[in-house]
Amino acid sequence: MITGEGYIFELMEQHDYEHLFLCQDTTFGLRAIIAIHDTTLGSAGGGTRMWTYTSEADAIKDALRLARGMTYKWAAAGANMGGGKCVVIGDPRQDKTEGLLRALGRFIHRLGGLFVTGPDVGTNLRDMEIMRMETEYVVFTPESWGGPGEPSPATAFGVVQGMRACLREVYGSPDLQGRSVAVQGIGSVGEHTVALLVKAGAIVTIADIDQKRAEQVADQYGVNIAHPEEIHALKVDLYCPCALGAVLNDHTLPALNCKIICGSANNQLAEDRHGDLLTERGILYAPDYIVNAGGAIFGVDSLNPGGFNRQRAMETVSHIYETTEKVIVLAKAQGVATYRAADLLAEQRLTMGRQLKRLAKQREI
Ligand code: NAD
Repeated sequence: MITGEGYIFELMEQHDYEHLFLCQDTTFGLRAIIAIHDTTLGSAGGGTRMWTYTSEADAIKDALRLARGMTYKWAAAGANMGGGKCVVIGDPRQDKTEGLLRALGRFIHRLGGLFVTGPDVGTNLRDMEIMRMETEYVVFTPESWGGPGEPSPATAFGVVQGMRACLREVYGSPDLQGRSVAVQGIGSVGEHTVALLVKAGAIVTIADIDQKRAEQVADQYGVNIAHPEEIHALKVDLYCPCALGAVLNDHTLPALNCKIICGSANNQLAEDRHGDLLTERGILYAPDYIVNAGGAIFGVDSLNPGGFNRQRAMETVSHIYETTEKVIVLAKAQGVATYRAADLLAEQRLTMGRQLKRLAKQREI
């Protein structure tokens, strides 16, 4: 429940959010929230999430939190995008209808490009296709629509670029040949990551709570399987979390036996202090939002003149190597953990964006 005068404004003032839109339509039962955090660098970009939130306050908080995360993700990635997020309150298995999605598409269209979107938890490319009927501000559409299609291959490619930058820092070479990697979670991103690692000559061990899936992937790529409870504790060069968040916590940290952590899972650190503890232990942590930005970077290529271009998009994703390097260099220069250096990198770019805007205003005068 939202209580107390000024509750939402207080939340927004904490991190200087620009806008919060509440979208409702009784005909289709639409209740959605679009949070716009910061558009210094460009239109706010973020996925559309559909979830059975237990309260409106939870949905608003989630939209605000995720929108701010996107500001940092885009800024650090070098993209000219701002941070936004859309959350729809409802059960995607029951409440997601064509009418609801199109009504949402119309709201997004009315924002005139302030917010652009793609799929997230509870929505998929087919849903984007439907929303695209009402608005051009859906950047993720299927390949048959001339769009980028599924983001996970690009996400996996970006993760592997991050791994290479970390390997170069720790072992002096970005080469994956002969390096041991433990991949936790063999979903869309995990499987594509395994394929790239095997191709590069890495020695891969995988785990998934879906044992059948793990066996099928192990057979297909000729890799080993570990128990899902033990994958994080294997003695390997790289641990690659591609399942859930908060996997780096008080319980798992003492058991880690790797030199590098680099994976796609969002919010891997249970708390910031776990990032500091990793630095103390001499484990190089590649900040999740830096190395898992590949899919998002790939998708927004659609906004470039001439529309989506696969080759250009993948080339832009490959820059995750340099971004990871920058984070490592900044962490060392500032004497901070890498998760903090990632934020600093994003903040530096936002400052530059604000300075450029000021300069443009001065020139107008
Ligand atoms: P997915 O749902 O396809 O795959 C997740 C896999 O993890 C499933 O196979 C599931 O069985 C497994 N899993 C769940 N709990 C586990 C556990 N405790 N131990 C081992 N395996 C477990 O998801 P995905 O699209 O591959 O994304 C993986 C992660 O990367 C998520 O955290 C997601 O938010 C993040 N991410 C994905 C993308 C993308 O492009 N799909 C982009 C950025 C971030």
